[in-house]
Amino acid sequence: MSLKYKIPRGTYDILPEDSQFWYKLMNKFRELCRLYNYHEIVTPIFEQADLFERSVGDSSDIVEKEMYKFQDKKGRVFALRPEGTASVVRSFIENNLGRQSSITRVYYSGPMFRYDRPQKGRFRQFYQYGVEHFGSEDPFVDAEVISLANMFLTKLGLKNFRLELNSLGCRDCSPLYDQALVNYYSSLKTDLCPDCQQRLTKNPKRLLDCKVDSCRNYAREAPSILDYLDENCRRDFELVQKYLTDQGIEFIVNPRIVRGLDYYVKTAFEFTTDALGSQNTLCGGGRYDGLVEDLGGDKTPGIGFAGGFERLIEIMKIENIGFNESSEKSIYLVLLGDQARAQAAGILHELRTNGIKVDFDITKTSIKAQMKSADKAMTNYSLIIGDEELARKTVILKDMSTGEQQIIQKKELVSTLIPLVQQ
Ligand SMILES: [Zn+2]
Ligand SMILES: [Zn+2]
Repeated sequence: MSLKYKIPRGTYDILPEDSQFWYKLMNKFRELCRLYNYHEIVTPIFEQADLFERSVGDSSDIVEKEMYKFQDKKGRVFALRPEGTASVVRSFIENNLGRQSSITRVYYSGPMFRYDRPQKGRFRQFYQYGVEHFGSEDPFVDAEVISLANMFLTKLGLKNFRLELNSLGCRDCSPLYDQALVNYYSSLKTDLCPDCQQRLTKNPKRLLDCKVDSCRNYAREAPSILDYLDENCRRDFELVQKYLTDQGIEFIVNPRIVRGLDYYVKTAFEFTTDALGSQNTLCGGGRYDGLVEDLGGDKTPGIGFAGGFERLIEIMKIENIGFNESSEKSIYLVLLGDQARAQAAGILHELRTNGIKVDFDITKTSIKAQMKSADKAMTNYSLIIGDEELARKTVILKDMSTGEQQIIQKKELVSTLIPLVQQ
């Protein structure tokens, strides 16, 4: 069969069999955010393109190569959001979210878009979850945000992940480190990949992040940011580590964690895993103390993280964790004869009104076919009504696992079923 319409390259459907994963991931994330007193924020999937150009940085891969930019009918230039933080900061400023309290905690989730070369686990439309914390520079907050991410991954049942931690320095000490990188790389310039040759002038830290083998070898020998932190940054970095240790959260310090975006300062972190073969990032984030001001707001420190749902779901499928269907019991309605079948709508409505999950197959008429459907649906109980039950105003309740049957009064149907399905 040749298809008339196909899904756009780099995107995918969440099929009914997979939707439970999304639902449960989102529920777990919401539940944890509630515990940490974060509140949900929802922003549009497109914004003025220069919001991202200004915040993510025009030397980032995202802005240079991967943005879905378009003009609307009035010639305004928009972009589909490539990440969540810029939009949240825009909304924070525009709605003056900092006015009620010195601390603002928000979380979000939804589709993001990057015109990336599609490959395994990488999509042009992908789903991210994330949090942002505004209003405090205290390293205590850094550890709390990292703790939320750690708790989320742990509560999902993931085991084989690591926390990698770094400090990128502040706007005072970071340029000194950039200069050290430029000095180190200048004699190697002709050996670097074309991207890195450009990064050397625009954002030298990104050289440490390059995936090209030859560049990676040089990165290993490069100077470490940790030798360039000023006193303030060094002290804060030590405090972040102390607060993580206080919570029993293990980490390794990795001075090559730089994150791909320009706005990060001080704490940067990634949760990584080998569960999918090569090393993958599950989520990552960091501090962005200058971003709110850069985008036109009052000086407000901020820190956050974001991660993708796709990798989490992939790992959970491989490791077969966390996603058994709930213990909720289901009911199947089996109606024999035209008179009984005429009551279907009324019975279904009554049961559903009372919170009972029930199914009925209008396409099947014989008892054999209906019981087969009930079996196939792995239902826990069948309700059977034929002419005889109709005349006596009764219902046969059959336990599908034991085959046991009992006759109950129709008017007692709901009160009989509720304790059964709520077990
Ligand atoms: Zn510093
Ligand atoms: Zn490179």
